Amino acid sequence: GILRSFRSVGVGGVGWYRPYSSAAPTTKLVINGKFVESKTTNFIDVHNPATNEVVTRVPQTTDGEMEAAVEAAREAFTDWSDTSVLTRQQVMFKYQQLIKENIHELAKTITTEQGKTLMDAEGDVLRGLQVVEHCCSITSLQLGETMPCISKDMDAHSYRVPLGVCAGIAPFNFPAMIPLWMFPVALVCGNTYIFKPSERVPGTSMLLVEMLHEAGCPKGVVNVIHGQHQAVNFICDNPHIKAISFVGSDQAGRYIYERGSLNGKRVQSNMGAKNHGVIMPDANKESTLTQLVGAAFGAAGQRCMALSTAVFVGEAKEWIPELVERSKKLRVNAGHLSGADLGPVISPQAKERINTLVQSGIDEGAKCLLDGRDIVVPGYENGNFVGPTILSDVKPDMQCYKEEIFGPVLVTLSADTLDDAIKVINDNPYGNGTAIFTTNGATARKFTNKIDVGQIGINVPIPVPLPMFSFTGSRGSFLGDANFYGKAGINFFTQLKTVTQMWRETDVTPTQSATAMPV
Ligand code: NAD
Repeated sequence: GILRSFRSVGVGGVGWYRPYSSAAPTTKLVINGKFVESKTTNFIDVHNPATNEVVTRVPQTTDGEMEAAVEAAREAFTDWSDTSVLTRQQVMFKYQQLIKENIHELAKTITTEQGKTLMDAEGDVLRGLQVVEHCCSITSLQLGETMPCISKDMDAHSYRVPLGVCAGIAPFNFPAMIPLWMFPVALVCGNTYIFKPSERVPGTSMLLVEMLHEAGCPKGVVNVIHGQHQAVNFICDNPHIKAISFVGSDQAGRYIYERGSLNGKRVQSNMGAKNHGVIMPDANKESTLTQLVGAAFGAAGQRCMALSTAVFVGEAKEWIPELVERSKKLRVNAGHLSGADLGPVISPQAKERINTLVQSGIDEGAKCLLDGRDIVVPGYENGNFVGPTILSDVKPDMQCYKEEIFGPVLVTLSADTLDDAIKVINDNPYGNGTAIFTTNGATARKFTNKIDVGQIGINVPIPVPLPMFSFTGSRGSFLGDANFYGKAGINFFTQLKTVTQMWRETDVTPTQSATAMPV
């Protein structure tokens, strides 16, 4: 077993669903392979969203500690970037095994800090694990290109070499998957890393980084700092950090993209979304409704690929009452309890914001067909629960349509034709994901061609690409050039070095120096 050393032991102990006392354990930093207590006096409380009890306290890492983390990463880069690709691959082989062996523990940590159900939390780990498994193919992924005989006795080849120290800033909603989009890809390419987990869900990242060390990753290769704005600004400004991966809200994403880019760094920034599902009248009704309910309310709607907006085309809108009936059957409960379909949202503020957006929809003329705002979960009265909520007759100028709600709220619109539905989606600034439900291939093909969204599902409600592809959200949902994971991820974490070489068996010394451009 792994020695869990990422947290101090508070008075309440470290049981995962036990109530914690006010002397909650602090979460440590990882600097140069050591799990250390921060010297800061500023901590952020992390609450269990089902109870609002404090789980842990996260340090606002001091500047000196963040500098030390970067120094460790710089120093580690010299050896790590020179390590054989087979050695890095071996670390990934061991790492994927350790993640599999510890999946239940990881899932429990996710449920405690983030709130989602245990089964969903395992899915969170598994989708990240797939990226680690893909990293095991680094021996093919990092191949360069060669071209012999580009001129007389001359050949050229290009290497994909690491960038140096890279950094990642993660959101709260996928405590395992999104960190695993970041540092494994970076380090398997030979980079070293500064990782800043979401200050709301630090525990899973700590477990993952602990397992990475257990897998043989040398000290200093991955360091963890915690905090909010100060830590983000440090990452954006530190001259030794070459690239930043960000996933989270629009506001933070644009800020980090701009500040990091101004400082000459590569930045990839995945941001918010408003994902539309188009329901054609020819769709398979049973499977479409089943999928819609899961994709709208799973993880309490706190997925960047949640299907939060349904556009019913023509007669398909007659299915809405049945959608409401099915949604009523979902069980809202603390995520660790068996049978829960959705858990709480992340914070009381998030709940308040969701409820306000629902009310704004009603005030602006939408109909509330299912209202989960006043739900009380017995035994968990202090939790941030919102039940499945459905607004119909929503129009694109309503606030509940324009904003990402990020809660268990499905807004529904009607359209007369497929073209009208496509127009609504293409007029929306976001381009993360969309789906169409139809049994007609020509309809699906037209949708795919005309829609300006980066990830499309055909009878698939949440089309998150597997890691042999990349996460290709577009337009308002992404800033940068290279997407996360897959080939694009390898490109993001490497730069090309191109060698042009001449070797002649008998050296023919030119009689004159060439001053014109060689052709
Ligand atoms: P968030 O932006 O609040 O936090 C993300 C990270 O940014 C955290 O580490 C946080 O410390 C930092 N941060 C927060 N506000 C900041 C600010 N003003 N300046 C600088 N840094 C700041 O996001 P969140 O609430 O944790 O996550 C939810 C959001 O993430 C949703 O909008 C969701 O759609 C989006 N998301 C997108 C994807 C994607 O791949 N497109 C995936 C998951 C989540």
